[in-house]
Formats: sequence, C-alpha cells, structure tokens
Amino acid sequence: MAAKVKVHWLIDKCPKPQDCGKCLEVCPSTVFVLVATDRERYKEPENWVIIPSFELFCTTCNKCIDICPKDAIKIEIKEAE
Ligand code: SF4
Ligand code: SF4
Repeated sequence: MAAKVKVHWLIDKCPKPQDCGKCLEVCPSTVFVLVATDRERYKEPENWVIIPSFELFCTTCNKCIDICPKDAIKIEIKEAE
C-alpha cells in the first residue's frame, strides 16, 4: 500500500503566519490554508493558524520546508499498514 504523508505545522515556531505566508505561496499542491481563529463580525481578525488541510495532495517536494525561515513545518511519511 502507498505511504501516507502527514504534514505538521508548528504553532510555537510560527505564532504569526499572516506576517509570512511563504509556505502558502510556495506549495504547488495548495496543501496549506490560512484560517483566522478569532472571527467576529466587522472586526479584523488578529489570530491566524495554518492548517495543512489538503495534506492528501502533498508530493513531499519539501519546498515548504526549504522556504520556511522558522523551521515550523515537518513532513512525516508513514508506511501504510
Ligand atoms: S512538501 Fe511540497 S507539496 Fe508537501 S506541503 Fe510542502 S510544499 Fe506542499
Ligand atoms: S513559511 Fe514558515 S514561518 Fe512562514 S508562515 Fe509558513 S510556517 Fe510560518
């Protein structure tokens, strides 16, 4: 069976992803999504997280890891059982 890819984004190393966003731009498979965690009507959100929502499409090209200045992304390859 094919290996399964798990993409981890580490919030401790990237507390303000909205100020960078390089991983979002570089990923050819659009794996990452930037999401506001404090959404209120008529108010600009201040807190954001990156969710690797589409890790299923990750090709393990490592472009996100290479471009990340904070070492905040890890790719884990799990052999399927
Ligand atoms: S390894 Fe490549 S395909 Fe996978 S999340 Fe990073 S940039 Fe996207
Ligand atoms: S490239 Fe790294 S530092 Fe920049 S938003 Fe993505 S995870 Fe955060």
